[in-house]
Amino acid sequence: MGIRGQLTLLVAALVAIALAVGAWVEVRRERREELAEFRSRHEKTLQAIGVTVAVYVAQNDLGGLDTLVAQLTEAMAARDLTELVVLDDEGRVLAHSTPELFNTVLTDDFTREALDSDGPVWAREGRTYRIAVPAVSGIRWATVSARFSVDRLEASFVRARLRLALAILALFGTLTLMLYVGLDRLVVRPVRALQQAARRMGEGHLATRAPALRSVELAELSETMNKMAAALQHERENLEHVVAERTRELQELNARLGRLAVTDGLTGVYNHRRFQEAISAELLRSERHKRPMGVLMIDVDFFKKVNDAMGHPAGDELLRRMAEVLSSDLRQTDLIARYGGEEFAVVLPETTKSEALQVGERMRVAVEERINQGTPWPTKVTVSIGVATYPEDGKTTEQLIASADQAMYIAKRQGRNRVVGARGVIG
Ligand code: GH3
Ligand code: MG
Ligand code: MG
Repeated sequence: MGIRGQLTLLVAALVAIALAVGAWVEVRRERREELAEFRSRHEKTLQAIGVTVAVYVAQNDLGGLDTLVAQLTEAMAARDLTELVVLDDEGRVLAHSTPELFNTVLTDDFTREALDSDGPVWAREGRTYRIAVPAVSGIRWATVSARFSVDRLEASFVRARLRLALAILALFGTLTLMLYVGLDRLVVRPVRALQQAARRMGEGHLATRAPALRSVELAELSETMNKMAAALQHERENLEHVVAERTRELQELNARLGRLAVTDGLTGVYNHRRFQEAISAELLRSERHKRPMGVLMIDVDFFKKVNDAMGHPAGDELLRRMAEVLSSDLRQTDLIARYGGEEFAVVLPETTKSEALQVGERMRVAVEERINQGTPWPTKVTVSIGVATYPEDGKTTEQLIASADQAMYIAKRQGRNRVVGARGVIG
């Protein structure tokens, strides 16, 4: 059961119990008062009757007395009288509502007490009241004793109690309904709204705000939740910013590392490892699509002389210039790498032998013309280039490289500064 149901039942039950207890106390008090009033009213009636009775007894008119008792019994039956007796001072019946009892002697405790008493006496016997008074006219002539039924009175008490119980029940029902509806507006709906906001926040929608509420405590709770969500939102934005910044830095670093891993430190062109990757990948593609490809091996002629004459730093500078000149004329898809020492290698995708020879020749001329401008090298700087192409000079990377290498050595032997094509697979 929800908080609303519990509160409703608790409050309604407490009110109903309080009302029931109050009503019960009040009904008991009223019952006591009404019974006392019942007694005193009948006592007065009996006293009035006693005066008349005394006159009849004083005149010894027992016939008249009998008629009087019979008439009174009948007239007062509607007013709860069930028995009317006139007794002499010995307890002998002078007249009785049940005429057969005439002249009998009553000896019960109540009768004896009544005969002994100078005033009215009464006693409760079951559902009746017995009341007795002296019949006085100057002196005491007899005793009038009567029996009154409290049935009518008790029945009215029962009806009153029933009405009260029904009223309390109706009140309980009304109260329950009012509380149930009232608590829905006061508690259930605001709490549900807060719960919904909390759930949205929990799902990560930190821009959600709990509604403004009228009840002080719930309004405070709502405000606290909103502050918490705002703080979390701020924190998350900060965090996202920091993470984005770090991610960008890392990506940059990774890219730089990636470039470093495949770049030759001295010349800035690709390194040996990248060349191997590229030639393998290109060979696979050429095989699959049955397309030609070329490999150039480029070796600087008499490079040692530069080192020897001008020192290694000058040799390094020449290698850098060399890389620059060799790279400048290549297609986007071609790849140049420093193979090692003063050797460079070039991968030429989609290139036939004659095209590769042309590329090699263009490079040789470019080196011859551009490298020798300006710097006074100890000797004219030239390159020897070996050209091998797939599929005729090799089916594997090793074969292609060996073929290109060998063609390059042939170029050396033939006098350097020239381009030589391989002549088929070696060995
Ligand atoms: P050839 O025409 O037969 O190729 O003669 P060469 O002098 O170029 O050939 P050799 O192999 O005798 O000499 C190559 C030299 O290149 C030897 C080595 O000291 C030098 N060398 C290799 N790597 C570097 C480098 O990174 N920087 C410098 N400055 N020199 C290098
Ligand atoms: Mg060499
Ligand atoms: Mg050389």
